[in-house]
Amino acid sequence: MSEPQDLAAGNFSNWLRETHTALKNDAETDVPCGECNACCRSSYFIHIKPNELDTLSHIPDELLFPAPGLPDGNVLMGYDEKGYCPMLKYGTCLIYDHRPATCRSYDCRIFPATGIQISGKDKVLITQQVQRWKFNLIEADEIKKHKAVQKAASFLKHKSKLFPPDELPGNPTQLAIMAIKVHDLFLEQEEAPLDDTKRVEAVITAGKKFDTQS
Ligand code: SF4
Ligand code: SF4
Repeated sequence: MSEPQDLAAGNFSNWLRETHTALKNDAETDVPCGECNACCRSSYFIHIKPNELDTLSHIPDELLFPAPGLPDGNVLMGYDEKGYCPMLKYGTCLIYDHRPATCRSYDCRIFPATGIQISGKDKVLITQQVQRWKFNLIEADEIKKHKAVQKAASFLKHKSKLFPPDELPGNPTQLAIMAIKVHDLFLEQEEAPLDDTKRVEAVITAGKKFDTQS
């Protein structure tokens, strides 16, 4: 069997800047997915917000259910027994032009960028795709930014017990996104590094600031 081929994830600094902007504006990402549809086949619950009226009008009501812990009107779409989104037929999204914002903004390159791993039998397809991405890391500045993103992710992962309940996302996707949002805090080699407790506070504050500026 042939080895899976690497995929060019692009210049890291450009990707980080574009991802930051997309996260701030809740905007669509431009992922060179090609023929891949692994994230549509990886047992993901798709969140749809109440204001996504066009999307909601294209999905049968029986496929939607209230999103736990979120205000009324927020719904989730589940997946079938194979882990496939019910809107995926013959490898194509039936509602592509009307797909949820969650699908439009999803970019699996957040995993190679942060070093956060996805696990589980139901995530094999997406894990294989994630392993293929390779970023361009040439300039000193982008190597520094990449290290900062990875340090942020590592801190969130290894110091999770220091965070108050509900301040740290539980799933790998949201954890990776948070690392990207707060990576600035990990850019510099401080002369007097913050202790872990102070750094946790700084991370929470930076995450909230990012969200309120969005
Ligand atoms: S798994 Fe990644 S490359 Fe594949 S469709 Fe989803 S976002 Fe695109
Ligand atoms: S709605 Fe379309 S893009 Fe989104 S997961 Fe389902 S098939 Fe994929």
